[in-house]
Amino acid sequence: MLTIQNYINGQFTPPLGGKYIDNIAPATGEVYGKIPDSGPEDVETAVQAAAAAFPAWAAMPLEQRHDILRGISDGILTNLDRLAEAESMDSGKTITTARTVDIPRAALNFKFFATALLHFASESHAMPGALSYTLRQPIGVVGGISPWNLPLYLFTWKIAPALAAGNCVVGKPSEVTPYSAYLLGEICTAAGLPPGVLNIVHGLGPSAGEAIVRHPLVKAVSFTGSTRAGAEIARIAAPMFKKLSLELGGKNPNLIFADCDYEKMLQTTVASSFNNQGQICLCGSRIYVERPLYERFKTDFVAQVQAMRVGDPADPGSRLGAVVSKLHFDKVLSYIELAKQEGGRILCGGHALQLPGRLAGGYYLAPTVIEGLSLDCRTNQEEIFGPVVTIQPFDTDDEALALANGSPYGLSATVWTNNLRRTQRLSAELQAGIVWVNCWLLRDLRTPFGGVKQSGVGREGGWEAMRFFTEVKNVTLGE
Ligand code: NAD
Repeated sequence: MLTIQNYINGQFTPPLGGKYIDNIAPATGEVYGKIPDSGPEDVETAVQAAAAAFPAWAAMPLEQRHDILRGISDGILTNLDRLAEAESMDSGKTITTARTVDIPRAALNFKFFATALLHFASESHAMPGALSYTLRQPIGVVGGISPWNLPLYLFTWKIAPALAAGNCVVGKPSEVTPYSAYLLGEICTAAGLPPGVLNIVHGLGPSAGEAIVRHPLVKAVSFTGSTRAGAEIARIAAPMFKKLSLELGGKNPNLIFADCDYEKMLQTTVASSFNNQGQICLCGSRIYVERPLYERFKTDFVAQVQAMRVGDPADPGSRLGAVVSKLHFDKVLSYIELAKQEGGRILCGGHALQLPGRLAGGYYLAPTVIEGLSLDCRTNQEEIFGPVVTIQPFDTDDEALALANGSPYGLSATVWTNNLRRTQRLSAELQAGIVWVNCWLLRDLRTPFGGVKQSGVGREGGWEAMRFFTEVKNVTLGE
């Protein structure tokens, strides 16, 4: 039985209250470990350690800070197999996804921001008789709270820029997927990260998470997770005037036009619908297809989806693994039932899968495609975040745009067309923080990342992240 501990002031420490939560493997439904059920007292210890470490970390020469962060990146790659197994075990994602996507990207996050800190610069403004320059100083102690779908990938996406900018961090990974963050503590120590610079507190959102948000010494919070929790965090943090970056839910549209490169579109749309069991905030879950292409797309798409193998996440041959938890499994199934009640036709999937042997208690779902639903039904308005998509034909560009924008969310949108004028118009008018044209999930870490509407506020990535994690001060020098 694996017992995870908090990582505070460079030490693995048990929760002060002595309470633990079961850690369950989604592949089998069995408890395989315990994680700290930390409370405000653990967060207090972590914040104090971070505050004590801050002056020396902020004053460290940039090259030295770079070397340590680069060392963490290397350490993640050295431990790739171990981390990938931990990630797959915790989340039910396939070992192939963990090995080729999650863990390499976590290493890249550190490598990217280790380099960014060497190049980060601020502005100066000259006028007759005066020169103003901008200081971008580290904020101090900052909080990072992350979800279960891309555990180490998203946890490090916050931690790396925060540390690069000279802050000390109190981070909380999802209580559903704590294992890889636990291993990260060990890697940070081995890379020479001074005690207290990064503190990892495990536990539930309303207790450990909220304690981070409420703590007066935590001056900025970067959060990725549900819109519901994001709203709660904003409610707590706003009167304390904390800096907030909120990366929240999505209900992303794919607009597929008849002039697209069909094969590339088809393969990518299968991936954008079902990679990681549809549990990526950027997955397209509402697929709109220009009518002349609709029947052909429907036939080919459903055939490909039916051919995908759902299996043991530990088996490199599995295309889909388990969804993350029993709670989430029940939620996704309830949306499939709702879709039927709302008049949807299930073209494939629509049910749970019972796998044999030790996997019998796991949370497996058949990838599901539904048609015949209107835009305003709940299935098309609410985030399901599982292996479920809806498809629908459209006739004109205006109709496609209205369908795409007819959602409370605005994270990303994907457009498949070879028409340049249409591309430019739709890219400008789509209500989304990210538009992919003839591609999906192509990530350049320098680009701004984030959503509009109920998908959040603020941008991550590149200089946006370095700016978020610094406080700006203008200095004007007179003659
Ligand atoms: P969640 O909101 O339940 O939890 C996310 C994290 O917040 C966890 O660590 C949780 O413990 C913590 N938390 C929950 N309530 C809290 C509170 N009141 N105060 C402080 N912390 C709290 O989300 P989840 O179920 O883990 O993740 C799935 C959601 O994340 C989906 O909505 C998905 O779209 C979203 N997501 C968004 C992005 C993005 O970049 N926009 C990326 C990945 C996932």
